[in-house]
Amino acid sequence: MSNSDHLARMKMWEETTSNTIPKNIGTKTLIENITQWHHDRNLIEGSTDKDQYCKLIQEAGELSDSICKGRDVSDDIGDMIVVLINIAERNKLSISSCLEKAWNDIKDRKGQMVDGVFVKEADL
Ligand SMILES: [Mg+2]
Repeated sequence: MSNSDHLARMKMWEETTSNTIPKNIGTKTLIENITQWHHDRNLIEGSTDKDQYCKLIQEAGELSDSICKGRDVSDDIGDMIVVLINIAERNKLSISSCLEKAWNDIKDRKGQMVDGVFVKEADL
């Protein structure tokens, strides 16, 4: 997506949402709204995990582009979470339960930094 496309999309998003989304909307409500958005557009029954995984990697590419160009990454992170919500919903999982599982996996993990990446003890 070109930068002008992105800016146009952001402007449209702001115009669309500025009057419909209250300030400081909670994460739970946002996830519920996004889940409903996916259902309303037939992106749960009408799509697949494979399709959405491709979309996720597309969004990851946009995140990479923004990081490499020193641009704001908030939209890119949000877009990736939107796709993850889609995959979670199709698999009857909640984002909270997925995060809780990940947290329980990493919270006591020991390891060390190798070139800026944390490598768990078992992989050292
Ligand atoms: Mg994007």
